Amino acid sequence: MTTDDDRTPKPKPLAPVLVMAERCHGPCGRQRPPAELVSLGTGGAKICWDCWAWHEKALQMLAGAMPPGCQNCLKSMETLRREANAVFPDGEPRMYVHPLEGIYAVLCWVCSDQVVRATNLYRDTQYGWDQKLK
Ligand SMILES: [Zn+2]
Ligand SMILES: [Zn+2]
Repeated sequence: MTTDDDRTPKPKPLAPVLVMAERCHGPCGRQRPPAELVSLGTGGAKICWDCWAWHEKALQMLAGAMPPGCQNCLKSMETLRREANAVFPDGEPRMYVHPLEGIYAVLCWVCSDQVVRATNLYRDTQYGWDQKLK
């Protein structure tokens, strides 16, 4: 005698997909599968596709192009422009290009401040002293 249970195929035990994650050395710092990482030069540093795409946008921005937004908070230029209206007299958003880990990152003024505080990148500079990073 068969029951419904016997006829329906038993679900296979869920096999976990094992991925040896590597940390992205770019600004996002997330763990990524190796297939999503790009090697930077010969130093062994690897960054993910996202960070690489932003690096290219930063280069375009340095060449005069409009950035699409902030890499960290992911706000669009439209949103940032709205917020800048309340913060800056001229209403123009401040976008910063940060050299991080050998690549460039595009950050809005808020995230730029956070990154400066979160890293010790500028610790030994006058700017670091001014911002009391010591
Ligand atoms: Zn990344
Ligand atoms: Zn931001």
